[in-house]
Parts: sequence; C-alpha cells; structure tokens
Amino acid sequence: MTFTVAIDGPAAAGKGTISKAVAAHFDLAHLDTGLLYRAVGARVLVGVDAIDAARDLRAEDLDGDALRTADIAQAASRAAAIPEVRAALVDFQRAFATRQGGAVLDGRDIGTVICPDAAVKLFVTARAEVRAQRRFEELSDKGAVTDFETVLADVKARDERDSSRATAPLVAADDAVLIDTSDLSIDAAIAAAVAAVAAARA
Ligand code: C5P
Repeated sequence: MTFTVAIDGPAAAGKGTISKAVAAHFDLAHLDTGLLYRAVGARVLVGVDAIDAARDLRAEDLDGDALRTADIAQAASRAAAIPEVRAALVDFQRAFATRQGGAVLDGRDIGTVICPDAAVKLFVTARAEVRAQRRFEELSDKGAVTDFETVLADVKARDERDSSRATAPLVAADDAVLIDTSDLSIDAAIAAAVAAVAAARA
C-alpha cells in the first residue's frame, strides 16, 4: 500500500516535530526533504558546484545534526532556488513518497510539486516572530552564539527567498489543511495533524 502525507511550510513552523509524530503514529517512513537541500548547501560552502552536488547526493550525506547550522540553512535556500538543483532531487523524493507502507515527506513543495496527488496535504505555519523565537532557543540550546534579531532576520530572508523563487515557491497547495502553530502547544499541533491524516485514512 502506498499512502503519502505531504507536509509543507516555512522554517521553524513545527513541520519537523509534526512530521515525526505523524510518521510514528501511523507507522509511516519519514523524509525531511530540507536535509537534501542542506546537504547540497553544505557542499557549496566547501566549493562544490550546487548542481553537481545535487546530482551526486548520496543517502550518507543526509546527516541531520551536522547540517542544522544557520550558514548551511542560508546556503541551502540559495541552492534551492536553482531549477537544476531541484530537478536533480525529484526522483529520490518521489521514490521515497511511493514506498510500500506509506511515507510522510516534509518540505516546501511536497504538496504542490513533488506529490501533487498525496492522500493528505498539510501546510504548517506560524508568525515569523514565533518561529524565530523557537529557532533562537534551539540554536542557543546547541551552544550557538547568536541573538534573536539575527535569527529573525535570517528567518525572514529565507521566507522571502523561498516564497519568491520562480521554481517551486513556498506556497500552500489549494487542497492543503492549514495548521497555524503560533498559539498552539506542541501536543495540540500534533493532534490537529493526526486528526487530518486519520480523516484521510478512514
Ligand atoms: O526545512 P529546512 O529549513 O531544513 O530547509 C532548508 C532550505 O531548503 C529551505 O530554506 C528551502 O530553501 C529549501 N527547501 C526547499 N524545498 C524543500 C525543502 C527545503 O526548497 N522541499
């Protein structure tokens, strides 16, 4: 059986937490597609051409922890605006999405471009200030030296670049269920997502 859940939204809206919880709840495989772009961004920062990096990407390159830095996020977002980079990553994502047993993919264009026929589409968002505060706390916990204003500027710069690019911009699919996590607890946000997926499974 294939069953695809597409979860899109801007940085630090809670997609990752919700995606992992939905995957665990329904026993589905999970792919954080941001890691693909981050792996490309990381290679670009050491001098590799972005398109070559995307074409040569291997599963071993998707080391989540090492890739979650602010510099890599910005490099990922710049690389993600290059159509050839996006094209090189499509097959991997679609193969994952259609695996037996079902899958959850989270990113920016899953419901619109990668899996337009997904059984369920969620668009998870939150106000920029709330997202920046979450990212700031996450980075501070990891020992990064930064301040809220810098993180907010980074979040807004990525939002702007991701939303305004010509290829696969960040936008909610027409048939996506919108979940605004600004004023929701983590548990309430997960419950809303699980309910939307359960409705589609019924
Ligand atoms: O989700 P995450 O913050 O890890 O993504 C890093 C960057 O990768 C995003 O800012 C975005 O530019 C890009 N991305 C994308 N399409 C996806 C996933 C991520 O363009 N499906």
